[in-house]
Amino acid sequence: MSAKYDVIVVGAGLGGTAAAKTAAEKKLKVLLLERGRRPGDKQMSGSYLFRTITEEVFPGFEQADFHKGQIRVAGIDFRWMLDNDEKRYGVSVAPGAEVMRNWMTVYRNETDEWFAEQAVKSGAELKTALVTDLLWENEGAEGARVKGVVTDVGNFEAPITIDASGLNSLIAQRSGLADWGLDKVMLGLKYIYRVDGDLLRQRLQTYMDTDGVEVDWGATQMLCGSNPDHFGAHATGMPGRGIVSICFYSALKEMVEARVNIHQRAQWYLNQPTCKRLIEGGEFVYCNFHALAAGDMVGYVSKSFLSGLLLVGDAGGFAQPVDNFGANVALWLGRMAGELCAEMKATNDYSEAMFAKYEENWRNSWVGEDNVPEISVFMRDGGLNQVFSSMDDAVSYAFACKWENKSYPSIILGVIPKLLPVLPVLLEMPHLGRRAAEVGLKRAAPFMQLLGLWPSAGPNAPTSKGQ
Ligand SMILES: Cc1cc2nc3c(=O)[nH]c(=O)nc-3n(C[C@H](O)[C@H](O)[C@H](O)COP(=O)(O)OP(=O)(O)OC[C@H]3O[C@@H](n4cnc5c(N)ncnc54)[C@H](O)[C@@H]3O)c2cc1C
Repeated sequence: MSAKYDVIVVGAGLGGTAAAKTAAEKKLKVLLLERGRRPGDKQMSGSYLFRTITEEVFPGFEQADFHKGQIRVAGIDFRWMLDNDEKRYGVSVAPGAEVMRNWMTVYRNETDEWFAEQAVKSGAELKTALVTDLLWENEGAEGARVKGVVTDVGNFEAPITIDASGLNSLIAQRSGLADWGLDKVMLGLKYIYRVDGDLLRQRLQTYMDTDGVEVDWGATQMLCGSNPDHFGAHATGMPGRGIVSICFYSALKEMVEARVNIHQRAQWYLNQPTCKRLIEGGEFVYCNFHALAAGDMVGYVSKSFLSGLLLVGDAGGFAQPVDNFGANVALWLGRMAGELCAEMKATNDYSEAMFAKYEENWRNSWVGEDNVPEISVFMRDGGLNQVFSSMDDAVSYAFACKWENKSYPSIILGVIPKLLPVLPVLLEMPHLGRRAAEVGLKRAAPFMQLLGLWPSAGPNAPTSKGQ
């Protein structure tokens, strides 16, 4: 092929910059297209990134200048709120705990720009362009393949196009691989309040920690209702800035059916004691919105490649089904796609079988391992309610015992009957039960370490996910 570029990457987010950097490092000619005036321009959120994965893909990330003066969010309180009955279990993840040592909060607006800089330093060409369509060879016929993209500044061709253009990707839809229905998108609403910093410190009981960077730690409280109608929210208090941001999430489909808007949905949380206490005496400043993959509810796209095209990150619906964290998955897949591009170039093999290797690779990695459609279906169909109410009993009991210094065997014996109501559901689906146990155990390990129920792995110890 005589295209000017070896690879075109659409979108300079996490997946796109990781793919572009990886391919450029292997001396491929990479064109990275971003619709924003600069990478990060369109990002209005923060993210928890896993340090190990991020540092591996972008060496130097942890010590990069853009972290200076940032407020990091350090603590996470897990609370189950069952229909106005607030329960706090006291699982508070504080600075110094291994799990937080390996998570780093970042402002995507700045992070994406830095990631793109690294891709450019490696040799990628970054261009501001809005990609509006795909270019095809033999479109609609046998042997059709993607040969490039159409943009507002002209057409570009390459034997490989990587779509990393994020949620609701136009390109993924044009390719026919993804169909972004209402059930696949959640709407997020963020309310920002100004609250006195000292008051916030008292309310959050947060800590000061330096960890090599001057920071005034904040804390995030995860709030879950028992009813999927009120699917999720988290409140982050940043005493150093005197700010509380409360994010509410609800599936679009579910809101359309219930004929409510996201502000109405948010009221339920705002009336909860946890939220009320946090923002009391504060001043509402502004709100903004964002879309989020409801991938945990529906699973990934069934096919993530075509001849000439790879889908990376949110464009392929790759939200982590277990915790819905897509950033780390996007980074990982971006690198995987970049490496495959280098292999195709080295062997001069751009056959469909080579593109299929991408899918094979991620399915065999932790990304595929965590893609458990049964969990998604189970949660969507009300399983979440059953799990929450059983967990509610079991977890309150376990914490009460821990505070009373009861022995672990007696705690375990007491907890088992409380989890029995979930058992019939799991037995009906043995595969789900086994996978849920495996994934749940892996996920629970860091928190169990904090409670002293699991051997400590030491700071920054990578798990199979590099978390
Ligand atoms: C509020 C919020 C909080 C989140 N918190 C976390 C978290 O804590 N941890 C976590 O792991 N995940 C989190 N996520 C999810 C995470 O942000 C995404 O999973 C991740 O950004 C996906 O990366 P990506 O590279 O696939 O897409 P994105 O990061 O969305 O990047 C896509 C890029 O493509 C560009 N683009 C889009 N369309 C075009 C086009 N047609 N032409 C050219 N460029 C285009 C966009 O401008 C953007 O720069 C959060 C998401 C939101 C909204």
